[in-house]
Amino acid sequence: MISLKTQEEVELLRENNILVSKTLAEVGKHIKPGITTLALDKIAEEYIRSHGAIPGFLGYGGFPATLCVSVNEQIVHGIPSKYELKEGDIVSVDCGTFMKGFYGDSAYTFAVGEIDSRVAELLKVTKEALFKGAAMAVAGNRIGDISYAVQTHAESYGFSVVRELIGHGLGRDMHEKPDVPNYGVRGRGPLLKEGMVICIEPMINMGTRNVVFEKDGWTVRTADRKPSAHFEYAVAVKKGKPDILTTFEFIEN
Ligand code: MG
Ligand code: MG
Repeated sequence: MISLKTQEEVELLRENNILVSKTLAEVGKHIKPGITTLALDKIAEEYIRSHGAIPGFLGYGGFPATLCVSVNEQIVHGIPSKYELKEGDIVSVDCGTFMKGFYGDSAYTFAVGEIDSRVAELLKVTKEALFKGAAMAVAGNRIGDISYAVQTHAESYGFSVVRELIGHGLGRDMHEKPDVPNYGVRGRGPLLKEGMVICIEPMINMGTRNVVFEKDGWTVRTADRKPSAHFEYAVAVKKGKPDILTTFEFIEN
């Protein structure tokens, strides 16, 4: 069952995702060499709680933190730790909130200081792939149109698309139907209807698309230990054009 949201519910999802967007920006201000990923987690938790929400990930399926913080070859679901960021790292910060009965869920990959130019290209292309996917989130299209747009953009630069982890519907649950893969065939998959709210979250690898699930039970990394990038938007499907509930404006401006 794919739940369709009323406009009122979409506004509550927007409130959550704007708070996530602002939390990511707050975290981003502190991303520099020497800070631990655990310190970033505390900043996010405090920010979310001081804005009337609770962290959406903390305790979700037993996850132990507010943020998923995934550095370099870590793709997603990294657990905040005593690891100190260093110049040249990239760090995916994935954040969730829960407020007024709904969830927010968005992610951004930050560069720590100066990074390698091919890694910078990975970040740029992954974000572009997200934008191209999100542009397809229009009533009358199909999930496969989003998937295809993401995959073709990433692969045209020689990068690879993770298969084991995908986007999802968002609402009163963090993970709802439909599945939103980052690979697929145009014109296939569930029909997009006004009122559907989905998270589109390309996870794009520099090398192989293959992944390893770490023994900590959470962290997913690239099999070849080359870097991976991750950006995530929550999007409400509309007629004519998508209604993007997340913004990276607070981070980038
Ligand atoms: Mg997320
Ligand atoms: Mg998500």
